[in-house]
Amino acid sequence: MTNVIDGKALATKIKENVKAEVEKIKGIKPTLACIIVEGNKASEVYVASKKKACESVGMNSIIARLPEDVSEEELFQTIDKLNADDTISAILLQLPLPKQLDDVKATNRISPSKDVDCLTYENLGALFSARGTIAPCTATGIIKILESENIDIAGKNAVVIGRSLLVGKSVANLLEQKNATVTICHSKTQNLKNICQQADILVVAIGKTKFVTKEFVKEGAVVIDVGINRTEDGLMGDVDFDDVKDKCSYITPVPGGVGPLTVACLLENTLILYNQQTKKD
Ligand code: NAP
Repeated sequence: MTNVIDGKALATKIKENVKAEVEKIKGIKPTLACIIVEGNKASEVYVASKKKACESVGMNSIIARLPEDVSEEELFQTIDKLNADDTISAILLQLPLPKQLDDVKATNRISPSKDVDCLTYENLGALFSARGTIAPCTATGIIKILESENIDIAGKNAVVIGRSLLVGKSVANLLEQKNATVTICHSKTQNLKNICQQADILVVAIGKTKFVTKEFVKEGAVVIDVGINRTEDGLMGDVDFDDVKDKCSYITPVPGGVGPLTVACLLENTLILYNQQTKKD
């Protein structure tokens, strides 16, 4: 029987734990600053939901809003100001940025101590050296999903389709740290279906609606669908859920799978950064 993983329920548990920790904090509560450069509808939705999530656990949040034609210099001034502000615990630069800006360069302007999505070179270096204190929120959420279902990772064949730093490479690294044998696939991968058919755990993060069908999936595999695609029929994943679901042992739906975990782990990461900044030696 296939288990459809309830990401919302797991995210609620994580948020309850964060809320309980935040309640214990006396004085200024952890604060997340989201920087949004206007012009991307999906980014507006994500930032609004992150702000709401902060409020739901008693954290503060601010949104730094910049116009679509903002220059690199102006963006960097905003990031520098937030870096220097002691009341800000964590900074999230909502990606993607408009064409005139460089996502990687801008992300690296964030102070590593406030880099809540773990995308600065310093934090990625720590992550890839297995010394990180946080990891990118979505990748962390995927591991939490697997662990919450007691799914064995060690020794399993994990295939990750997608190699972005934000998702593919990060989750592949976390899976490898948990002793999976990991294959990363991308748009130039040959024999993709054959490789995916070897996967005990298949993570799909490509941004292509219903790309993965049952021909990609080994009987009894765990399928984690990271994709969020906005279509006329609503939000859709990268996996053709109806086609695949009877073939796998576990599957995450879209919506209600990985997405809620990303937000919950963002709150958890904000709390971790706050604790690191306020820790008395
Ligand atoms: P991205 O930066 O655009 O990366 C997409 C990756 O998919 C690239 O590595 C690309 O390969 C690969 N790819 C594209 N077409 C492919 C194909 N036909 N076969 C094999 N690989 C292919 O995207 P991302 O930021 O990783 O996000 C991926 C998806 O996850 C999107 O739908 C995004 O909205 C969603 N997402 C969801 C959450 C969540 O919370 N659920 C969080 C973040 C992202 P190349 O490198 O060769 O181009």
